[in-house]
Amino acid sequence: MNTDITIQNSDTSIYEDINCFLKYLKQMGATGADIEESSLQCIHKWERPIISKQAREVPEKQSSVARPHTQITRNETFKKTNDTLTALLKEVKACTKCKLHQTRTQIVFGAGDPKSRVVFVGEAPGFDEDKTGKPFVGAAGQLLTRIIHAMHLNRDMVYICNILKCRPPDNRRPEPDEMAECIEFLKTQLDIIQPEIICTLGSTASQALLNVKNSITSMRGHFYDYKGIPVMPTFHPSYLLRNESKKKEVWHDMQLIMKKMQDSISA
Ligand code: URA
Repeated sequence: MNTDITIQNSDTSIYEDINCFLKYLKQMGATGADIEESSLQCIHKWERPIISKQAREVPEKQSSVARPHTQITRNETFKKTNDTLTALLKEVKACTKCKLHQTRTQIVFGAGDPKSRVVFVGEAPGFDEDKTGKPFVGAAGQLLTRIIHAMHLNRDMVYICNILKCRPPDNRRPEPDEMAECIEFLKTQLDIIQPEIICTLGSTASQALLNVKNSITSMRGHFYDYKGIPVMPTFHPSYLLRNESKKKEVWHDMQLIMKKMQDSISA
């Protein structure tokens, strides 16, 4: 008897769904699967797992006769997002709108999953980021990585970027004209990624994105709104390196983010 199973084209969506669901479980911190009847019933209520926006964009299965050329596949949506981000990256690389282009080694665009549900936004690249072209890779970045791990996620599952794409000399604070120019790139980046939650790190990023002047101490722990996306301001990891006792407040903020992500799935 031939036991080979040939996967027909039409069956591949099942495998995509399983793959999608396993990724979702991993994002939620699972290291194994609980197949108790009560758990299966609970999962059944969730219907399609949501690990990224592309899963939500896929139209319900339609007959290929009815809409032969308009069915958008997940891969096509993913590719479109990547292509749009790549076009923006090209624009940022060529940017000379403010003086920082004269002193940068390279731009630091952003890193991670372009379809992530969560985006972390920092202030500006520092020495290590300017050298590597990657956001949050220095001491503060290592702490941010540990915070992300504590959320049962990793850097590849989230997206990390900054208000400024170029390093201010000597890591000075970004100046108003620099932020006014560069924040437009961030806004386009967020429009493309369309995350479910944004976490702004520190007062500069929080005030700039939300266009407010409130202190980070008063803002953290509460969700704000950016174009319909909940924003959680929290302390910047470099501040945490100098003020260890504030870590518990940041962990509280991360738990609020994790709860919101879970609530949006069970809703
Ligand atoms: N601080 C930031 O705000 N961003 C980085 O990328 C690194 C340090």
